[in-house]
Amino acid sequence: MTGRSEKTVTAKVLVVGGGPGGYVAAIRAGQLGLDTVLVEADRLGGTCLIRGCIPSKALIHVAGRFEAMGQSVGDGRFGIALDTPPRLDLAAAVRWKDGIVDRLSGGVAALLRKAKVRVLRGWAVFSDAKTCTVQGSEGPLIVRAEHVILATGSEPVPLPALPFGGPVLSSTEALSLDRLPRRLAVVGGGYIGLELGSAFAKMGSTVTVVEAQPRILPLYDAALTDPVRRWLERAGVTLHLGARALGMEVGGDGQALVVQTADGGTIRLPADAVLSTVGRRPRLEGWGFETMGVDRRGGFVAVDDQCRTSMRNVWAIGDLVGEPMLAHKASAQGEMVAEIIAGHRRRFAPAAIPAVCFTEPEIVSVGLSPSEASAQGIDAIVDQFPFAANGRALTLDAGESGFVRLVARRDDRRVIGIQAVGAHVSELSGEFALALEMGAELEDVAGTIHAHPTLGEVFHEAALRLLGRPLHL
Ligand code: FAD
Ligand code: NAD
Repeated sequence: MTGRSEKTVTAKVLVVGGGPGGYVAAIRAGQLGLDTVLVEADRLGGTCLIRGCIPSKALIHVAGRFEAMGQSVGDGRFGIALDTPPRLDLAAAVRWKDGIVDRLSGGVAALLRKAKVRVLRGWAVFSDAKTCTVQGSEGPLIVRAEHVILATGSEPVPLPALPFGGPVLSSTEALSLDRLPRRLAVVGGGYIGLELGSAFAKMGSTVTVVEAQPRILPLYDAALTDPVRRWLERAGVTLHLGARALGMEVGGDGQALVVQTADGGTIRLPADAVLSTVGRRPRLEGWGFETMGVDRRGGFVAVDDQCRTSMRNVWAIGDLVGEPMLAHKASAQGEMVAEIIAGHRRRFAPAAIPAVCFTEPEIVSVGLSPSEASAQGIDAIVDQFPFAANGRALTLDAGESGFVRLVARRDDRRVIGIQAVGAHVSELSGEFALALEMGAELEDVAGTIHAHPTLGEVFHEAALRLLGRPLHL
């Protein structure tokens, strides 16, 4: 129930959550002339901008620079020699990262203002599907809207035996440390564990990864993850695969992570910090979701291909509605929902959603892998072109393990999947996604002049090779 003194705000569109799903939905709704209110309890930008994509990539960049400088100590590399090893001031690196986050969060606020979106700061709690109370600094506000877009995102899953707190960090704390942990144990060899684990290894931590599956990054195939595994081994990262974290224990050698290994034995991993990254779950607690009468599917909010929930004019987007839990998917859904509310005919049916893992080397996957194509009964042809035969890769000192792999239908040579591993391949993901979205055939890729010297030429050559006429191999 609400008190008489509470103020009421009405809007055509209410967006809950200011992450890449919610803020993009609100900007687009505002651009389309819809009277829009966005509620955000924390800072604008959500997980991605404040404690996810952007801060992690900033620290990965710092780690890469630090590692490269370290490799120049002594005899040097590329003719560059440093007399003394570089020193890392992690607190200063974190301040640099925070500066980028501040700038981008301020940019989101400015874009929302420009689109005439009213931003309410505070935690929204729903009393029914179209009404929420926002607990802001100036007291409670009741917000009612014709359309509600739920974009409350996700949160890290804690392991029961390893609750967050003290030495057990989630990605949020790991991105804001002021001192480097000397020994870091990472539980979960997925996206976050390996992106951040690799960065900490480059910065000088002794890193051990405990992964439950028999290999790292199980959502990518082994051909793509093998170069990452080799890099981790070279960098001195210990991998315990098929292993499980049992909890923390304090002994004579200090605090340690207790791990059940693949052979059923138990080991202790002394650690100054444990980064637990075993997945994320939709944020559905504490804001009255249960009062809304909206259906769930597999723990997520159930939506159709227009992001409509089971309740009329209640929409849900982003991490809340399931895999892939990626920022660009959230934004694409947010943009679409705003346009549907404004009367456009849209549905969410992308040919592909690119996935990028910012490990060493980077991995990109767009569309179907060879095994996914065969599981779907598609008669596919597959080939790849190595970075070792590309001039740009060699000038970037990245020729060793990278490649671009193409999957195409045998009958009409339509491209149905593109994967790549190698330095900077994240920057090729847009070209890959465009090719799939435009329904490119191998001849289209082969017939497109790619600038020299660039890594994009590897994509061009992969198409030529699949057509049986590579030029540089
Ligand atoms: P979120 O970004 O989670 O935003 C939800 C917002 O809702 C939050 O700001 C929260 O405060 C607010 N909120 C929730 N409930 C309420 C309420 N009741 N009232 C008011 N406000 C509320 N994805 C990529 O694509 N690329 C990457 O490189 C990448 N790196 C990542 C690295 C890390 C360490 C992490 C943790 C995630 C990463 N992700 C990455 C995933 C990406 O961050 C998410 O997919 C994305 O943020 C989801 O966007 P969203 O809008 O659905 O939700
Ligand atoms: P994840 O699903 O990528 O990886 C979790 C890993 O933990 C898996 O490999 C799983 O097998 C393992 N695991 C689960 N339980 C375990 C246990 N008890 N012991 C040991 N290992 C265990 O999850 P994440 O790394 O937490 O990332 C969450 C999500 O955030 C990702 O799925 C992705 O959607 C998003 N993300 C994306 C990017 C990117 O796009 N570059 C980067 C970071 C995060």
